[in-house]
Amino acid sequence: MVDADQTFVIVGGGLAGAKAAETLREEGFSGRVILVCDERDRPYERPPLSKGYLLGKEERDTVFAHEPAWYARHDVELHLGQTVDAIDREAKTVHYGDDGTHVRYDKLLLATGAEPRRLDIPGTDLAGVHHLRRLSHAERLKGVLAHLGRDNGHLVIAGAGWIGLEVAAAAREYGAEVTVVEPSATPLHHVLGPELGELFAELHSAHGVRFHFGARLTEIVGQDGVVLAARTDDGEEHLCHDVLAAIGAAPRVALAEAAGLELADRADGGGIAVDERLRTSDPDIYAAGDVAAFPHGLFDARLRVEHWANALNGGPAAARAMLGRDVVYDRVPYFFSDQYDLGMEYSGWAPPGSYDEVVIRGDAAKREFIAFWLKEGRVLAGMNVNVWDVTDPIQRLIRSRAHVDTHALADPHVPLDTLSA
Ligand SMILES: Cc1cc2nc3c(=O)[nH]c(=O)nc-3n(C[C@H](O)[C@H](O)[C@H](O)COP(=O)(O)OP(=O)(O)OC[C@H]3O[C@@H](n4cnc5c(N)ncnc54)[C@H](O)[C@@H]3O)c2cc1C
Repeated sequence: MVDADQTFVIVGGGLAGAKAAETLREEGFSGRVILVCDERDRPYERPPLSKGYLLGKEERDTVFAHEPAWYARHDVELHLGQTVDAIDREAKTVHYGDDGTHVRYDKLLLATGAEPRRLDIPGTDLAGVHHLRRLSHAERLKGVLAHLGRDNGHLVIAGAGWIGLEVAAAAREYGAEVTVVEPSATPLHHVLGPELGELFAELHSAHGVRFHFGARLTEIVGQDGVVLAARTDDGEEHLCHDVLAAIGAAPRVALAEAAGLELADRADGGGIAVDERLRTSDPDIYAAGDVAAFPHGLFDARLRVEHWANALNGGPAAARAMLGRDVVYDRVPYFFSDQYDLGMEYSGWAPPGSYDEVVIRGDAAKREFIAFWLKEGRVLAGMNVNVWDVTDPIQRLIRSRAHVDTHALADPHVPLDTLSA
């Protein structure tokens, strides 16, 4: 039974928003929970959109965070297809919908996520130019890949980040020709640095993906709305049928910015600035998931983490903080990816410039190993590739801040836990 004295509003029905609603009920909150999302689909998980679902191996029904009846059963008022376009912090209301609905909140959670960055070049409005963020995008792309595969068609992908590479793998499985255009010299440069990026270049090349490194798209050439070619800034032209722009995502901060909430520095990834309790500069407004930039003591930096586990854990942490529980959100960042027969997990945070050494434990040539990024002998991050059940010891090692013996770290016979002791 809902007690209407208190109303908590959640803006954004991604995983962070859905998990926050779930946690509010689990923690016994008996007030109104209103979840507003501009998408027409109820909250779902995005990782399958570039993997199992895109490949036709997972059904549409499997991606949703909750079954349809869950919302009514838990008295969560779900408003889909509605964009929240204003927050009035003085009146403590949010405004959404064509009919001008105003809802008063006691606490507000912004879980507005991120949106794909757009290529700012001629030709991006052609029908064969795609992005991948939403279920509807994945549905469309799935049809495109199947078509390209059947007709020996060619897909150009702008960006060799996680989504670009996962779609490249899926496209090759469909039988399409794939060229990835990437300004850096290796894939995933901003996350893995050059040492491990090379491994992914080899993996994809072995599966027939062509890379065009050190270049950016400058124009997508088309005729009668159809893509014909993609041109790059070094004067090359790739004849192709479709283009995927996979050049990263931008946090959806417009609502927070218009409401005067503090934002994180764009140079550090932007996002809504929150404290370790995920509270914004307004004590009644919280932010979680891709959009939130939180201070992380372990890395001495404000992080904005665009990964599934951060939505899965950050939403619930924000919900508990909204209920006044003692919360310190300091999880070690974690993500995973699957490409062909390579599965990996990455824990920590070690962008290029933050580490001074990479140590490999295992057999990199066989793609069965753990890579560690270190700074002054301390492990900042670890990535296990086709080696499983090591996330906990890797995270303990990162958390311990222990100075490790790099020979022992590289030796698979030395248990990882003995290094953080
Ligand atoms: C294709 C794809 C594959 C991925 N694969 C992986 C993976 O393998 N591993 C991994 O760790 N991570 C992966 N991720 C990242 C992961 O899915 C995201 O980190 C996660 O979805 C973030 O959840 P969120 O709830 O913070 O934001 P989102 O999922 O972006 O949800 C935010 C929601 O809020 C809505 N919204 C925004 N503004 C408003 C507004 N003003 N009014 C109403 N609604 C609004 C948005 O439309 C959206 O529905 C992947 C992402 C994508 C796109």
